[in-house]
Amino acid sequence: MSQRIFIGVAWPYANGALHLGHIAGAYLPADIFARYHRLKGNEVLMVSGSDQHGAPITIRAEKESTTPQEVAAEYHRQFIDCWKRLGISFDLFTTTGTTNHTQVTHDVFLTLLKKGYIYKDKMLQAYCPKCQRFLPDRYLEGTCPYCGYTKARGDECDQCGRPLNPWELKDLHCYLCSTPPRFESSEHFFLRLSSFQDRLTGWIREQTHWRHNVLSTTWKFLDEGLNNRAITRDLDWGVTVPQPGFEHKRIYVWVEAVIGYLSASKEWAKSQGDDTAWQTFWQGDAKSFYFIGKDNIFFHTLMWPAMLMAYGGLNLPYDVPANEFLTIEGRKLSTSRGWAIWLPDYLERYEPDPLRYALAANMPETGDSDFSWHEFLRRNNNELVATYGNLVHRVLTFAQRNFDGVVPASGELDKASQGLLHRAEVTLGTVDGLLCRCEFKRAIKEAMSLAQEANRYLDEQAPWKTIKTEADTSAKSVYTVLSVLAALKTVFYPFLPFSSEKLHSFLGFEGTVEDAGWKIQFLPPGQKLRPPEPLFVKLEEDIVGRESSRLGSLKEDQSS
Ligand SMILES: [Zn+2]
Ligand SMILES: [Zn+2]
Repeated sequence: MSQRIFIGVAWPYANGALHLGHIAGAYLPADIFARYHRLKGNEVLMVSGSDQHGAPITIRAEKESTTPQEVAAEYHRQFIDCWKRLGISFDLFTTTGTTNHTQVTHDVFLTLLKKGYIYKDKMLQAYCPKCQRFLPDRYLEGTCPYCGYTKARGDECDQCGRPLNPWELKDLHCYLCSTPPRFESSEHFFLRLSSFQDRLTGWIREQTHWRHNVLSTTWKFLDEGLNNRAITRDLDWGVTVPQPGFEHKRIYVWVEAVIGYLSASKEWAKSQGDDTAWQTFWQGDAKSFYFIGKDNIFFHTLMWPAMLMAYGGLNLPYDVPANEFLTIEGRKLSTSRGWAIWLPDYLERYEPDPLRYALAANMPETGDSDFSWHEFLRRNNNELVATYGNLVHRVLTFAQRNFDGVVPASGELDKASQGLLHRAEVTLGTVDGLLCRCEFKRAIKEAMSLAQEANRYLDEQAPWKTIKTEADTSAKSVYTVLSVLAALKTVFYPFLPFSSEKLHSFLGFEGTVEDAGWKIQFLPPGQKLRPPEPLFVKLEEDIVGRESSRLGSLKEDQSS
């Protein structure tokens, strides 16, 4: 019975390169989840896109004396290149700069306005007398009234994650020139978020399957009470406001970014030649999952659900498996100080699968986790190369030499062989259950322990000894391990798609791993095996020192 799974992934700001924090936080878990469901035969729609709007982009454009369009276009190209090289398999990765996105945003805005969930009111907007302009929230800096962080922005504190209003900040000043702004009255549209307090509370109470950290953050906001929120800004870069008198204002970037999940789904449907194809992913028994970092929880568990409730007829999130943060070599990741590992820089020098493996094996699912080059090296050399890669290489080269490069007949299986094949079936079931619940870290550990088990079996059976005296016994062990490899290429596929496709081909199968589905693919005796190449490359110890000394040397603007 095929399920329909919608996967929305956080929209990256097109103002700087992607780094490992982004990948571990949202893109890798989303991709693992999408690949797993496709392998299960479910229908998946995974979308995201570059967020072209927002102050980070105009700030960057001003710094580089270029236009926001050019900044956004450059990073959009880079993002798409990164997805391809890292194997992040979006069904559509678009941008917020499309006409379609403006239309869908206007439709949501006007529907909510008509239903009375949006109203007009005056609010104070910061104005910098020195720069002679209204200052968007991100152009305002000050001290967070909740946690005391001195570099909090006008709309949000990056340290404690609380959404803020500019006037709540202490020592408020202009980000560009450090002058304290004055507040001038300006007319804006507001979302009646407060009127959803009860409905959201009731709905959140039902989400017992959500991660503990996501629930506790959401409850904190609900317990503090939801306030109505301004959804337009004094800006000239962004999605226009479809109301007269608002020509010099734009929709708040966070509001249109979450609408982007819907507009991207509609754009995808058009690209499939069926304008209504998006509906099956947004209505009925389809389930929607939103992969984001913990700093985006408010907008995905409260703001967007409230907008969906207000709009009507569309599914609310089924799960929001937000990840915690990734630290680098024990320190908080900081793009401005260059304390980050940039994805384009990594992909220039290393293969994608070892990074996917290292990040998935230590994913910040329930608490912050750390990436270190030493750990990366250990996982690559001891786990990928020595355990998994070596198993594949040993048995495939042995079959090439001693069984004419074909799958030998199994004969009658003894207890040990039956036991290992049973273990492979069990692993397939366990990993299935874990991936279904977005428990990626435990799932990849289960997969690797099957490879360890197969290595132990191979050492005990020693087919290289029995080949001389009992060729049938040797054939039986080789057949058994080949079958386990058929299981491994499946359970590892969501995590390590590139090496799984290679192994699929070495085993003599045609088509793709995905075509084969979530099962141990039967290896018919006599099937021609392909000569194997190493699945993974052993790395030299000196990468640890070399890479660690690069840390801090590549600032955000030099990262591409
Ligand atoms: Zn704070
Ligand atoms: Zn200023």
